[in-house]
Amino acid sequence: MDPFERRERPLLLTPEGKTCSMCGRTGGAGDRMVGGFGVVVCADCVADAHRLVTGGAEPDAADVPWKDRSQAEILETLPRIVAASRQMERFLFTWVAVARQSGISWAHIGRTLGVTRQAAWERFAKRLPDVPAADQDVAEEVVTEQ
Ligand SMILES: [Zn+2]
Repeated sequence: MDPFERRERPLLLTPEGKTCSMCGRTGGAGDRMVGGFGVVVCADCVADAHRLVTGGAEPDAADVPWKDRSQAEILETLPRIVAASRQMERFLFTWVAVARQSGISWAHIGRTLGVTRQAAWERFAKRLPDVPAADQDVAEEVVTEQ
């Protein structure tokens, strides 16, 4: 099976420290949250989403989340977007680490992301938790190949 065609299924997550990608609420003990492909969704948002997708209503392009919000409410939203974005970034780093641990080269990772292997290495290598020492050799190779 082509892994890129496989549908990612949601997983039940430990909620502590997770940010709901739909409402921006931070999970804590006793919360129920699911996640998949970089998003985390709290139980309330899952229930709301289920009602929306099964309710028979048609999408309304004018129904945007910032409609009817005060400036204070808009500002309160910004850090929640940043938290969700950081969570997505951690998800990407986790998958890059998995790719590296499975033996995929920086060149292949870079090509997949549409960047050079040096760009991939510069973005990810220093922040990966288990970067093998051999990666220093890769870095040297990448730098000298330009
Ligand atoms: Zn939520």
